[in-house]
Amino acid sequence: MLLKIAVLAGDGIGPEVTDQAVQVLETVASRFQHQLQVSKYAVGGAGLQAENDPLPAQTLQGCLAAQAVLLGAVGSPAFDHVPGPLRPEAGLLRLRRELGVFANLRPAVCFPSLEDCSPLRPENIRGTDIMIVRELLGGLYFGQPRSTQGEAGQREAVDTMRYSEPEIERIARVAFELARGRRRKVTSIDKANVLDCSRLWREVTVRVAKDYPEVQLNHMYVDSAAMILVARPADFDVLLTENMFGDILSDQAGGLIGSLGLLASASVGGRVALYEPVHGSAPDIAGKGIANPLGTILSTAMLLRHSFHLEKEAAAIESAVAAVLQAGNRTRDLVASGQPFLSTSEMGGKVREALARKI
Ligand code: NAD
Repeated sequence: MLLKIAVLAGDGIGPEVTDQAVQVLETVASRFQHQLQVSKYAVGGAGLQAENDPLPAQTLQGCLAAQAVLLGAVGSPAFDHVPGPLRPEAGLLRLRRELGVFANLRPAVCFPSLEDCSPLRPENIRGTDIMIVRELLGGLYFGQPRSTQGEAGQREAVDTMRYSEPEIERIARVAFELARGRRRKVTSIDKANVLDCSRLWREVTVRVAKDYPEVQLNHMYVDSAAMILVARPADFDVLLTENMFGDILSDQAGGLIGSLGLLASASVGGRVALYEPVHGSAPDIAGKGIANPLGTILSTAMLLRHSFHLEKEAAAIESAVAAVLQAGNRTRDLVASGQPFLSTSEMGGKVREALARKI
């Protein structure tokens, strides 16, 4: 099969982790006899530097012409003071909107060999296997109007949370469909005791649930969900959330399973799907060769599964990652201070070796 993939490395640790992920894809392509065609484009701060645009036209065209997009991360302190639309993050939001990817799937699975890396007691994190389904194109990150106005010292800023029934319905259906193939539980997160958007969210979710009688639906306020997530994470199966709540809860889930660097994501439902690790550009460790590439590598497994229906190939990557961790290989984020660890490229190399050995 020909696999045409646009790769947007982005900023900070983005290039370091995508480089390892692309090499893993090359290993998979050679083992399973696929032809990999990778085209690289600039995004975020890299786009601003090259074209003064966080999403250059050529990048968007390249993504729309590909069968799947793999992205590292965007964000750079060099652009922290520029106006909103010219920030690196604006390029990623625009890309998601242009691709139409409204459903962000963020699995948070505790690898048995990493139980000790969790800040929770092993018996509390054991068995955690959550699929976070986050709405990606609505809510506070896109709602209009938004502005900052007024005299210095008296300024006022406004963001708008807005959701329509069709937007809620389509993301709810994604969650219920996924739950069918899992443990058949959807927990819908909202703040219906305070927010109108959340009350509509709850109403629509209840309506959609009627089409999935085999799936159990329950509702939870986001504050309570944050608490249950640290107390009993293994209770959750599919966690359905609006945009910002999902952003926050999925980072929390990353902390729980040992490191944000382990989390993969797929953004689907549009013209071309987008795959990226959950973490950001991590400027604090960029360029040091110590970033964990596994979240990006696991994103390539999601890419092969969702965009190409290559289940064996996806499972091979996931098994290789599990085997490498089981053998005790760790990047810096997964060890106590002073303990030995592998570099980004050494960890990528271990995964490729495991893949080549058909583990
Ligand atoms: P971050 O995810 O970049 O980093 C948070 C912490 O996790 C840091 O201590 C970092 O060193 C660590 N970390 C992250 N990924 C890691 C990895 N692969 N291996 C080891 N450690 C890792 O979040 P932040 O610091 O809040 O944001 C930094 C920049 O990234 C900002 O500009 C932000 O806007 C941007 N950001 C981008 C995305 C994205 O591209 N999807 C997501 C979140 C944040």
